[in-house]
Amino acid sequence: MKVDETKCVGCGRCRTYCTMGAIAFMRERHGKVCAEVDQHECVDCGVCYRAEVCPVEALYEPKPEWPRSVRGTFSNPLIEHKETRVPGRGTEEMKTNDITGRFKFGEAGMAIEMGRPSTGARFRDIEKVAMAIAALGGIAFERQNPITGLMIDKATGKMNPELMDEKVLSGIIEMTVPLERVPEIIAVVKKVTKEISTVCSFDLTCKVRSDNKTLAFDLAREAGVVPTPNGKTNVGLGRPFFLEEVQK
Ligand code: SF4
Ligand code: SF4
Repeated sequence: MKVDETKCVGCGRCRTYCTMGAIAFMRERHGKVCAEVDQHECVDCGVCYRAEVCPVEALYEPKPEWPRSVRGTFSNPLIEHKETRVPGRGTEEMKTNDITGRFKFGEAGMAIEMGRPSTGARFRDIEKVAMAIAALGGIAFERQNPITGLMIDKATGKMNPELMDEKVLSGIIEMTVPLERVPEIIAVVKKVTKEISTVCSFDLTCKVRSDNKTLAFDLAREAGVVPTPNGKTNVGLGRPFFLEEVQK
């Protein structure tokens, strides 16, 4: 996001809408006070622009070049992932597993959500977490996920080096794993997150057995994570395109 200094009247209204505190300074320009967007911190989420608070329409979104273009695609829900051709942030498919059947009984859908409003996440930290998980061996990152699409080596989690300094509102590393691997992944993520400069949270999804057991949650508790369950109900608008196996 940028500010047209010839229009800005320095009212400061846009500052309170910034998700990253990137409009932190008001500078003197052309003999008047103007807002300034810190381009290093701005994630191009577009919130300040869409809020329509600027009285003189001084905020504008220049068309970003690669690699900056990933900021908007991961941070602005109105922009598609053209680089990876994968829509959404990546967890939609986990939530709609009743339809997609990506993970079965005995498996868990796992995701690490990195970054939040006010902190964001740089790709160098996303890569660090992805590579620590991949180093466990036998991990297949979800192919229909935009973070996976930016990996130059999907086996190691290595990302395109041009992205390292890019910052996004949040990025989601996603995978399907056998249930018994949940604790070791939680352990390695807890360890590596001590070395990164953002926040992250686990998404953990599994099928519920007829005895109401959710084994992934039991394993998470054993690994020292207290799950806060969320329920999604398939109201019949989608038709499953897989045959369910026998429940274990
Ligand atoms: S686009 Fe988002 S991060 Fe950038 S200045 Fe506007 S609100 Fe802040
Ligand atoms: S809301 Fe518009 S006029 Fe006011 S400080 Fe921000 S860019 Fe300048």
